[in-house]
Amino acid sequence: TAEAPAISEKTLNSILEKNRTYYTQGKVADYIPELGKMDAKAIAFSVVDKNGKVYNTGDVSKKFTMQSISKIIALMIAVTERGEANVFDKMGYFGSDKPFNHFSNLETTGKPLNPMMNAGAILTTSLISGDGDKPFLKVLDMVRFITKNPTIEYSKSVYESEKATGHRNRGMFYLMKNNGLISGNEDQLDNYFRQCSIELTAEDLAKIGYFFANQCVRFDGDTTYKNAEIAKLIESQMLTAGMYEFSGEYSRTVGLPSKSGVGGGITVSVPGKMGIGVFSPSLDQHGNSLAGYHMILDMVKQFGLSIF
Ligand code: GLU
Repeated sequence: TAEAPAISEKTLNSILEKNRTYYTQGKVADYIPELGKMDAKAIAFSVVDKNGKVYNTGDVSKKFTMQSISKIIALMIAVTERGEANVFDKMGYFGSDKPFNHFSNLETTGKPLNPMMNAGAILTTSLISGDGDKPFLKVLDMVRFITKNPTIEYSKSVYESEKATGHRNRGMFYLMKNNGLISGNEDQLDNYFRQCSIELTAEDLAKIGYFFANQCVRFDGDTTYKNAEIAKLIESQMLTAGMYEFSGEYSRTVGLPSKSGVGGGITVSVPGKMGIGVFSPSLDQHGNSLAGYHMILDMVKQFGLSIF
């Protein structure tokens, strides 16, 4: 296998500066009112190389909510607890041409298309064991473990804003309960809203990308959760559904397992090599960070990172 290319903060910074103004072409998500308060100009770019060395540029200390990126962590936990067959008996491995909050196949086959769109993700979180907020706390603890950052918390104001306005997600939750896929009460939906509201930095995202790129081994070499099969499953879901309905085109242009969130973050796994984390809250029409996407694209071209 080829060695990971040499990276420097200078290179990352020139990529960031080249793409800084893309934020003017997109829009900060405001369907969750609290998200609309984010600074559209904020931008950050982080890489963790093969040896676990961290490179940061831009607004490195800027925190944002991980939103849909939390879905890969919840999937890891649900599959670890119940086994892959049990989880995927209730949802598919499908890609989608529909947006993140589409009801996907709930009215036809009765099951969500995949665990990356909201329906499947809400179901995944409900499959994590424990009463009340315990499933959420497992997701939070795992994020803290992977990033080795015990200061990570969730934003109560974003959580409350999601809960107050998430009627579509509530609709999916009850339709899945009607379909016999969900057995618990609305605490389980709350856990999903809470996990979406976990706040972190681009560097934390790069470390998450690294973890799944390297068989669930942490950037500092900790092998507590080492598991090649779970890493493959998560990466394959990221590749086929991690960028919403843009995933197919993204596979062509970037060619790397990635997961975006409407908070403006994207985490990227370069299999066997590095993790990349980007942040810029101005989104394209699919809900993906616009400047984030272009920084990843330049990085991939410059360092030849596509898996294809
Ligand atoms: N909390 C968001 C929602 O369910 C997550 C969406 C996303 O990042 O795609 O609407």
